[in-house]
Amino acid sequence: MIKRNITALLWDVDGTLLDFLAAEKYGMEKCCRDIGVELSAKMLAEYSAINRSWWEKHERGEATQQEVFTGRMREFFTLCGIDHIDYDSFNAHYQQALGEAAFPQDDSIRLFKGLSGHFRQYIVTNGSREAQEAKLKKCGFDRMADGVFISSAVGAQKPSKAFFDAVREKTGYIPGETMIIGDSLTSDMQGGNNAGLVCCWYNPGRVKLSEQASGRSLRIDHEIHDLWELLPILGADHISF
Ligand SMILES: [Mg+2]
Repeated sequence: MIKRNITALLWDVDGTLLDFLAAEKYGMEKCCRDIGVELSAKMLAEYSAINRSWWEKHERGEATQQEVFTGRMREFFTLCGIDHIDYDSFNAHYQQALGEAAFPQDDSIRLFKGLSGHFRQYIVTNGSREAQEAKLKKCGFDRMADGVFISSAVGAQKPSKAFFDAVREKTGYIPGETMIIGDSLTSDMQGGNNAGLVCCWYNPGRVKLSEQASGRSLRIDHEIHDLWELLPILGADHISF
C-alpha cells in the first residue's frame, strides 16, 4: 500500500470516541426507572437493536431524525407491551440523559489531546444536537477539535456526500490526506467511500467483515481494534502523550 500523508482526521463519536452502549444503558435505565419500568438486560438488547435499525433507516434517507426518535420508542414500548407512553417526551428525557453520560473509549481523550497540533481533527456525528453537544463538552472534545459537525445542524447526514461536502467546504480538508475513523460500516466507511477519504474501520468487537453484507463492496484501508493502533498507521509513534 502507498504510504499516504494524513493531515486531517474525521472522528465519529458514538461507538468510536465514546462507548455508546454504556451511555445507552445508563440513559435507558434512568429514564425507564423514572416512569416506573424496570429495564431488564433483554429489554435493553431489544431496544439497542431497534435503535440501530432506525438509525440505519436514517442513513439510507428513509427516516428523518425526528422519525427515528419517535419511531424507536414507539416500536420498543409496543414490543414490551407497555402503553400510555408519550414517546416524544420520553425521548426528550432520554436525550438529556444521554448528554449527561459520556464514557470515553480506549482512553480516547488522552489520544485526541496528544494528536492535536499534529493533525487537524474534526468531529463528524449523526446524533442529536442536544445530546452530542453535551457529551462533547463534558469530555472537552469540543474545545480540542478544530471543528464539530453534527448532522442535524449541517442539514445532511453521514454517509451522504452532501454531509461531507459541507464539512469540506468549512474546513478545506483534502480528501486523499484525510482519514475517517469510525465504527459504522454503513455511515462512516460508506461515507468515507462516498467522499474519497482514507477509511479506518474501528472494530473493537472484531466482527468479521464477510459477515457484514454492507461490507462486501466497501473499501476499507485500515482496520483497528483499539484506537491507539492508529499511531503507527499515522506515523505518529514519536508523539508523547
Ligand atoms: Mg458510531
